[in-house]
Amino acid sequence: MPQRDGMTISSLLLLMLFLGMVSFCGCAEAPPRPAEGAGRKVLAPPSPAEAAGTARGAAAPGPPRIAGTRFVRVLLAEGAGPIVLRAEEMRAWGPDGRLVAEIPGTLTLSAVGGRIRFDGTRLLRDTLDVAGVPELRLSGGRVGGRLRIVARRGRLLAVAVVPLETYVAAVVSREMPPRFHPEALAAQAVAVRTYALGAMRNPRDTDYDVAGSVEDQVFEGTDNVAPVFLRAAEETRGLVVRYRGELARTVYHSTCGGRTESAADAWGKDVPYLRSKDCGACGDSPFSRWEYRMSAAEGRRLGRLLGIPPGKDLRFSVEGRTPTGRAKRVRIASGGVSREMPAPEFRKAAGYARVRSLKFGIVPAAGGWLVSGEGYGHGVGMCQFGANGLAKSGRSFREILAYYYPGTTVEGESP
Ligand SMILES: [Zn+2]
Repeated sequence: MPQRDGMTISSLLLLMLFLGMVSFCGCAEAPPRPAEGAGRKVLAPPSPAEAAGTARGAAAPGPPRIAGTRFVRVLLAEGAGPIVLRAEEMRAWGPDGRLVAEIPGTLTLSAVGGRIRFDGTRLLRDTLDVAGVPELRLSGGRVGGRLRIVARRGRLLAVAVVPLETYVAAVVSREMPPRFHPEALAAQAVAVRTYALGAMRNPRDTDYDVAGSVEDQVFEGTDNVAPVFLRAAEETRGLVVRYRGELARTVYHSTCGGRTESAADAWGKDVPYLRSKDCGACGDSPFSRWEYRMSAAEGRRLGRLLGIPPGKDLRFSVEGRTPTGRAKRVRIASGGVSREMPAPEFRKAAGYARVRSLKFGIVPAAGGWLVSGEGYGHGVGMCQFGANGLAKSGRSFREILAYYYPGTTVEGESP
């Protein structure tokens, strides 16, 4: 797995630790979502076809819908600074669906309290939909659909409203390398779609379903999405993973290192289809086995960071392991003082790209410590390198998903 994939999964774990909670979304964890439909305003998803086809024409009656196309609302950016949009031509609609303006070239928007300042002049209401011809760009990247801008307490949110299948292909392109077997890419596409649909039913925020970052699934617009990823989405179009009729929580990770972790051991909550499985198919992952040589200085930094003033007798030890061999707790001791902490806290402090999984040991070595381990990521659900290994041995994407999410079925998405 390329570095960025491992980083993605690691960063997700970081988020989980940050929030101190778990909700099994996509490639990892995220804060709980508001109760489905609880007092949220549902805004009609705008139509990219309209943007692509008729934006040059007469004023549209507002953001239309396209029958049969699902849209996922993806948070691309949020901040106090201005947002600059580019396209040959743009159209902007207010929340009432009325055309605000047609703008060539560049459009700069900023927040003034709960209102949107439009090109440094007009002050609009809190929501604006923008479509571009031939395509809208934000920070140089293709948005992949229409953009909804929302002003909130002096900050702007930029939310891409993207056709679901466009989103699926784009996310798969950031989760797996193009050299992976088509059946592995297909399995990943179904996992990504299942996750997105779960989020659409239970959005992260009133104004968006998912974050375009590692908080949910990485979406960086629609640039650089190779044909293999488009095919993976197209060939699995509409397919999702269900458990007893409900959308499954299709979490995944880079490399399990031989055996996946159970949700119960990783996050303290049993999920019937997220129990530990032998993998044995991810042996060709560059992260099957890894080593990290931790210097004495880094050890001292960690000791201080984790609450133990480091002396010459600074020690690290793993205290307790799950049945798959992953560390449960880590003890740090020096000068007669010691502290035991959850292993994920240690991993976070050490750095996810250094201590790549919790399946590790740590021993004193010349100049510091040697940390050696297996796998990359939290280890729960589908092992991405394992999925590729299974695909290479002739398994279909359905068989791969059934293997890593036992008891689930792959079915067509119901409307
Ligand atoms: Zn594996």
